[in-house]
Amino acid sequence: MIRNRTRSPGDTKSLAASLAELVQPGDLLLLVGHLGAGKTTFAQGFAAGLGINEPVTSPTFTLAREYRGRLLLHHLDVFRLDQISEVLDLGLPELLDSDGVTLIEWGDAIRQALPNDYLEVALTFVDGPDSSPDDRGVVLCPVGPGWQARTQALTTAAARWLEGPTC
Ligand code: ADP
Ligand code: MG
Repeated sequence: MIRNRTRSPGDTKSLAASLAELVQPGDLLLLVGHLGAGKTTFAQGFAAGLGINEPVTSPTFTLAREYRGRLLLHHLDVFRLDQISEVLDLGLPELLDSDGVTLIEWGDAIRQALPNDYLEVALTFVDGPDSSPDDRGVVLCPVGPGWQARTQALTTAAARWLEGPTC
């Protein structure tokens, strides 16, 4: 688990862009966190890091969007129950087998249908005397052997935002 702190939307985008440099075809990232925590903001920075110039908007009402950069990016949102079943019907394995990278907002809702190899990015609001309303916790949790092998690389990519000890 790699704990980070960002202090503005731009900061979250920069962290995401830095992580985007590490991804490979077939990679899966789950974006987890309450409404307004910054999942779509993260996706925007991640897309920019892949060299995508198009504006990235929330796929809340479209289920999945696709963008082409250094790699193909599939951006999904499974907030609504009907979207969960659509994603499962849509051929998730095909998406994940493609040579693109898949980002799923609210991905924890379909965790049981996913392969055991993904990077979970958990965004949280931060409370406390030293925090501002634009502070966010960004915890990276590499799940499965493929991502766990990249823990050191993730820590290096997140160095500027690192908050706590890693394990
Ligand atoms: P989600 O997709 O998780 O519902 P969004 O990314 O759509 O969240 O919205 C996050 C909101 O919080 C945006 O209005 C963004 O400008 C704001 N925000 C403030 N500080 C941050 C931060 N540090 N990281 C990400 N978003 C932030
Ligand atoms: Mg969103």
